[in-house]
Amino acid sequence: MIVNADVVVLGAGVSGLTCAIRLAEAGFRVTVHSADPPARITSYAAGAIWGCYLVAHDRGVDWSLRSLEIFRDLAREPAVTGVRMTSGVVASRGDLKADHPGPGAEDVQPVTSTATLPPGFTNGWWYRVPLIDMVVYLAYLTARLDDCGVRVQVGGRVTPEQLPRLGTTVVNCTGVDAGDVVPGDPVRPIRGDLLVVGNPGIDTFFVEHDDDRDGLTTYVLPHGDRVMLGGSRTDGDWSRQPDPERAEQILQRCVEAEPLLAGARVLDHRVGLRPARKRLRVEADGRHPHVIHNYGHGGAGVTLSWGCADEVLALTGAAARTTRRC
Ligand SMILES: Cc1cc2nc3c(=O)[nH]c(=O)nc-3n(C[C@H](O)[C@H](O)[C@H](O)COP(=O)(O)OP(=O)(O)OC[C@H]3O[C@@H](n4cnc5c(N)ncnc54)[C@H](O)[C@@H]3O)c2cc1C
Repeated sequence: MIVNADVVVLGAGVSGLTCAIRLAEAGFRVTVHSADPPARITSYAAGAIWGCYLVAHDRGVDWSLRSLEIFRDLAREPAVTGVRMTSGVVASRGDLKADHPGPGAEDVQPVTSTATLPPGFTNGWWYRVPLIDMVVYLAYLTARLDDCGVRVQVGGRVTPEQLPRLGTTVVNCTGVDAGDVVPGDPVRPIRGDLLVVGNPGIDTFFVEHDDDRDGLTTYVLPHGDRVMLGGSRTDGDWSRQPDPERAEQILQRCVEAEPLLAGARVLDHRVGLRPARKRLRVEADGRHPHVIHNYGHGGAGVTLSWGCADEVLALTGAAARTTRRC
């Protein structure tokens, strides 16, 4: 059954594609517009590990747990989806205590011997969560949409005047550029750099829990034959230009954490702008109730994607309809 409704989803990052899938699979006629090609958007640059980071919303944990259910299911076919359930450690230096990984993480255990941690690290937690290879995952989402007959149209930046006129329902998933279509919105970038290297045999992840004080952190995320190395966070930096000095710092920190990475050749340097906001915005617009906003996911847009997409589906009035796969 095709519901007689037109939904225009603005944005083809993880938020837009996931919403479009939810809506299309519920029977809506959907179109997706993206100003930028995949390699230019933040979702392409994400690490990505499941977990809430640099994001605030009182329903964030619930939405992340909803996504977790789906990622566990997708992890049954890692070659197709890019999702893998992976064990690893979050650890802290000195007196700083690493946070418990929280609800949803599997096999959580405190680190009992610092001998298993990199030099300088004093405490941490072992746990298991999904890692998501974003290049494979975005291709999987796009193919799943394609199966529903939905193509992503790339090119052209929508203006604030055009936004409410785009369709019967409009879903705004414009990430860090949301201020271009909602003038005055306080969304801002927290730039992140990520390096891609060949995998020298790493099968567990490492994430540093730090105090957010300087612009660098450390993470090592294995995805099959590649490893994603991070990372950085520069508040307010709109530049997407790779910085070789920053790359060198990231590589050095990651080699300290995982000596197997010594001599690793950098295959790619990705830069993304995390869409930061005082509070994630998932709601209908006050002035134009047919416009549903879904942006401001900070460093957790992948983690929250399915939970937020369910909320968008509910907001568009589809929750009462029968959901089906195409
Ligand atoms: C280095 C790095 C590591 C990260 N690691 C993780 C992680 O481990 N786990 C996690 O959950 N998250 C992580 N994130 C955060 C995550 O990447 C973001 O929260 C998420 O990608 C935001 O997705 P989005 O779809 O909302 O926005 P985007 O991916 O930025 O997509 C926005 C879309 O809107 C389109 N658009 C914008 N303006 C317009 C316009 N005016 N007209 C038409 N189209 C427009 C763009 O072209 C694009 O298609 C990381 C981010 C970075 C940078």
